[in-house]
Amino acid sequence: MADKRVIKTPYYLCEETLLENNLKILADVQKRSGAKIILALKGFAMWSTFPLVSKYLKGCTASGLHEARLAKEEFLKYKEEAEIHTYSPAFKEDEIKEIAKISNHIVFNSPNQLKKFIGKIKEYNKKIHISLRINPEISASPIDIYNPCGIYSRLGTTLENFDESVLEHLDGLNFHALCEQNVDALEEVLLAFEDKFSKYFKHLKYVNFGGGHHITKDGYDVEKLIRIIKIFREKYAIDVYLEPGEAIGWESGYLCASVLDVFQNGMGVAILDTSAEAHMPDTLAMPYRAEVRGAGSAGEKKYTYRLGGNTCLAGDVMGDYSFDEPLQIGDKIIFEDQIHYTFVKNTTFNGIKLPSLAIKRKSGEIELIKEFGYEEYKRRLS
Ligand SMILES: *Cc1c(COP(=O)(O)O)cnc(C)c1O
Repeated sequence: MADKRVIKTPYYLCEETLLENNLKILADVQKRSGAKIILALKGFAMWSTFPLVSKYLKGCTASGLHEARLAKEEFLKYKEEAEIHTYSPAFKEDEIKEIAKISNHIVFNSPNQLKKFIGKIKEYNKKIHISLRINPEISASPIDIYNPCGIYSRLGTTLENFDESVLEHLDGLNFHALCEQNVDALEEVLLAFEDKFSKYFKHLKYVNFGGGHHITKDGYDVEKLIRIIKIFREKYAIDVYLEPGEAIGWESGYLCASVLDVFQNGMGVAILDTSAEAHMPDTLAMPYRAEVRGAGSAGEKKYTYRLGGNTCLAGDVMGDYSFDEPLQIGDKIIFEDQIHYTFVKNTTFNGIKLPSLAIKRKSGEIELIKEFGYEEYKRRLS
């Protein structure tokens, strides 16, 4: 077994066994509900795991040209029949041709956009399926920054803005209104969605229930999800898609960092070779507290430290954590559950090095997949 100490910190480590456990749960939902589940690349795009992911999921959902290209280059090669669905809040003239050629499904955000591009798209790809994203106008998300149905939202078409002249082009409707939620939230959104839009279902082949379903989290009511999907499919005789991102990467690995310095300033302070701002952005945006392996909350154990990043941003702080032993320079700190919405959002702010990407294989072997350096920082500046 490879010794993980040879991988220099900071690094993300995705554990294949944990990832596969998630994929198996999702495959079971597909099998028993008849829904198709595709991976939202926005949340998890570690493409070196796609040989595994493609065994279980039907394809990918992309937020635009680059994600669609990644799906084509790195998912289709393991699963030829995989589907690529592409949605953007707005598509651009100079990208639409390539997007249409790559995608099996294209999802428009507004009737305007659909009408603008429908002619060209059909020219580039005769077999493409067309959908429109709906805003069911029910706020199910816990916080505003992750609520696509909030007031003045730009995401999706409300019933008032729905234009029946686009119906002849539609194969499906999409909604995406959840964020880390259980099935009760889906039930609520679905009710509002059906109430407003079921009159149009007779024109459709499918409805896409979006992402935000926390299916792989302990306590998620998988049986109820399966029941809801089955009832929906039977009632309207149309297919159902789900496109989770977080549920795929959920608790499938960690971010490992080293302690660079420790001192007292009213309390213990430790500086790590990673950054909350650059490498764990949702801990600041959401915000939430990442668990640290072996650590407790402040004061719970004998030695408490404020853990902070190695950037000049004062607020680049992961939080206050306590340990059984005093922290030493060189100690490893493991932040749990740092695989989804982390490296897909990383920046080189402050010139800080991007964490390496590593995979723990099912055999237990740890493989360093990629290391980053100065080039990633320089190439994006001029
Ligand atoms: C972000 C997003 C998803 C995935 O959401 P998760 O919360 O990661 O499951 C799916 N569909 C759309 C349209 C999205 O914007």
